Amino acid sequence: MDNQERLSSFTVNKEKCAGCALCVPACPMKILEIINDLCVITDETKCLECGSCRDKCPERAIIVASEDTSIKTDVIETDKNHSKTVRNPGTNFIPIVKHLRNIIFSDLKPVQIFDYKGKDIQEINKFTLDKNPCFVQLYNTDKIEKIAASSINFFGDMAAEVVCITPAAEYDLPYYMMDWDESKDHIFFFCDIVPSDDIILNSEHLEKYFYKPLEDLYLEYSFNINGLPKSPFHWVRSIHSPYTITGTIDKKDQKSLDLIFDCAEKYLRAWIKLWQNAQPLEPSSEIFKRINLRRQVIGKLYHENDPGGGAIAKFLGEQKGNKVMTAMMP
Ligand code: SF4
Ligand code: SF4
Repeated sequence: MDNQERLSSFTVNKEKCAGCALCVPACPMKILEIINDLCVITDETKCLECGSCRDKCPERAIIVASEDTSIKTDVIETDKNHSKTVRNPGTNFIPIVKHLRNIIFSDLKPVQIFDYKGKDIQEINKFTLDKNPCFVQLYNTDKIEKIAASSINFFGDMAAEVVCITPAAEYDLPYYMMDWDESKDHIFFFCDIVPSDDIILNSEHLEKYFYKPLEDLYLEYSFNINGLPKSPFHWVRSIHSPYTITGTIDKKDQKSLDLIFDCAEKYLRAWIKLWQNAQPLEPSSEIFKRINLRRQVIGKLYHENDPGGGAIAKFLGEQKGNKVMTAMMP
């Protein structure tokens, strides 16, 4: 520890730190300062362990114990003109999950569930974190195992909003996933329709669930939102995840802000059309077995690796944090 200052799971290597301050604006919680040419954390209790500072550091001087990230918000009534109104007094967070949940209520007619995997989840349906309102709610409906809609507000500095729709075992439908992590200045955005089957082995799955419904949407958003990677070839993308839209935008970039809001909605509406047409699989078929094996692995990977788990467990406690992660994850 001679050369290192241990600050909860955040550590700065004093010998490596050049005091360049590149990490300071990257912190969504605004808890980093340069003091005597050294990066210092001013309130370690607020650290989300998100790793944004570590990723900016050219000297690789920052170590964050968990491979972290995430978080989002809570809000007020939603309308389509999110950029003009609908800000929560006292915060500037955008109510994306409430907006998407209204569409889900209207089109999917889901019912709320209060037990999940043998656990009573009512304590996480609505709660506060340092007086800031949060919710983690689950719903189900025809052809769907669960719809998770969650909003967690970290100290009014950072809001994590997630919608994740997991299809029922009898359907080869893909997942819908949307993650919106908003700080005062930036939004980390992730929106995806995630394949349930292997789209290299099963080109029909690629055609039906991805290429036809999503190609135009993907090109519209990925090429027009500043700061996002651009890749035109769906056959190359299919080797990875073909229609992911992800990146971090500056909230002052109004055009990109409007586009990510629209993207979350249009991807959801595209997914709802797929849901409307989905037919059950034959349980003895190879594809049924393959899809359900694949879904088990996807669920396991999220549970073991999602970077938001560390921050949520830190602030909510192990037991409640586990309940939140189990409810939110696919
Ligand atoms: S890990 Fe995240 S919250 Fe913690 S100091 Fe770094 S950027 Fe800030
Ligand atoms: S970016 Fe790295 S080198 Fe620069 S001040 Fe932060 S920790 Fe130090």
